[in-house]
Amino acid sequence: MKVHVEPPFRKILIANRGEIAVRVARSAKALGITTVAVYSSADEKSLHAMIADESVWIGGADPEESYLNIDAIIYATKKTGAEAVHPGYGFLSQRADFAERLREEGVVFIGPPPNVQRLVGDKLGARRFFANAGVPVVPGTYSAVNSRDAISVAEELGFPVIVKPAGGGGGIGMKIASNEEELTKSLKEASELAGKTFGKFEVYLEKYLPKARHIEVQILGDGKGKVFHLFERECSVQRRFQKLIEEAPSPALSPELREHLLSIALKAADACRYVNAGTFEFLFDPSNANFYLLEVNSRIQVEHPVTEMITGVDIVREQIYIAAGEGVSFKQEDIKMRGSAIEARVYAEDPSNNFAPSPGKLTVYREPSGPWIRVDSGYYEGAEVPFYYDPLIMKVTSWGITREEARRRLALAIEETMIEGVSTNMVLLHAVLNNRAFVSGNYSTRILEEEKILENLQRHSMQRLRLPKKEKAEKVVSVRRAEGEIWRLASRIRPHL
Ligand code: ADP
Repeated sequence: MKVHVEPPFRKILIANRGEIAVRVARSAKALGITTVAVYSSADEKSLHAMIADESVWIGGADPEESYLNIDAIIYATKKTGAEAVHPGYGFLSQRADFAERLREEGVVFIGPPPNVQRLVGDKLGARRFFANAGVPVVPGTYSAVNSRDAISVAEELGFPVIVKPAGGGGGIGMKIASNEEELTKSLKEASELAGKTFGKFEVYLEKYLPKARHIEVQILGDGKGKVFHLFERECSVQRRFQKLIEEAPSPALSPELREHLLSIALKAADACRYVNAGTFEFLFDPSNANFYLLEVNSRIQVEHPVTEMITGVDIVREQIYIAAGEGVSFKQEDIKMRGSAIEARVYAEDPSNNFAPSPGKLTVYREPSGPWIRVDSGYYEGAEVPFYYDPLIMKVTSWGITREEARRRLALAIEETMIEGVSTNMVLLHAVLNNRAFVSGNYSTRILEEEKILENLQRHSMQRLRLPKKEKAEKVVSVRRAEGEIWRLASRIRPHL
């Protein structure tokens, strides 16, 4: 491990909010770097603005006026004399034009250079590029499809297929079609939604792999021509194509399969001359042990802590050193994985209302703690979860020498967490962590459907609704004893029951 005496930058600005802004500030400050936070009108009392050494108001609550407002962020950078900008994830993190603007202004962007951002940010272009480079991609089309050709293409691929917006992300607008009729409908719906959300109507097709697992590789390109890996993460626990619980290593991989996956990811990263942190996402088909590249995310990911927990590498620290031209601080052979880590994303969402965002004031807020528990949060008791942004409250990550130890620690940590004032998805997280398929490690991206996890949660709430008022406490306690029912969590998310 390379030891540096001088900080790589004197001052950096963090162009983000919430937990990731807090997390970036912590690593930067630990390196002796002065940190500048930016905040919107909705975030005046936010944790990220308090934790940074300096903070700058950059505009109104609407993200377009603040966290997506390139001019305001450049102004704040200049005004505070920051030498570099860390974009976090989301917002401007994958905008090549932002990275370019910073370069023109003589400010360092802590992330991949604009040409890499452009290449991997164009979903169809990236599919073509990686397929040409000999990297397996999910079978499908390499250009946008129109409704005339789509049916014959789908027949060739074989149903079911998945319709994807070419300019998309965040799982938005993706539709699965099992036959011609569904395909015609999906094409129309997906294209309309894509046009509305991303300003681009084009959609393309991929073969839908129903039993697949989402396994991704953390890559670091040192900026000097070399790419490194920090092993894989499994992110198959998803709701509506959005990750909920992530773990490292993947319980699906044998050492041989892992080697194979890592070699494909390194080949892909090398082909596109990847620089800084990035995630190469794959679908793994257990029926034939094939990996297919899904996409490349050219930023730090929400789920990066599980990788940090098993490798001991601070990914944000590496990002900063790479951006400063210092390369990575380790040799590939020094990176060993130890134990297992699992992360759960706690969202302000209402499970009784189809997980609609549930913004509001955190009247009670107690974070879990204990051996090998890590909490990444953007909030504190009394703080407000704003209506304008992603409702992620905190990420709870556990580590254990075995996967089972990590799993138990995380389930207990979720039980210990106390949040009132907003609804949360904790009851769902807890149900997944205790689900038999998850416990066994043998699960796919359809775990919520296959295991009927949401339906079962609903049924529990219904049963509890039927209990007569005065007997409620006793009955609930006995249910809990008998079935390990998570009544305390349930009553916390639905205090009126
Ligand atoms: P986005 O960029 O919108 O997040 P991705 O292409 O990364 O979309 O896919 C997100 C998730 O959707 C994957 O993790 C997986 O669960 C599911 N998915 C995407 N493509 C396929 C496919 N061809 N077959 C099966 N599942 C898929």
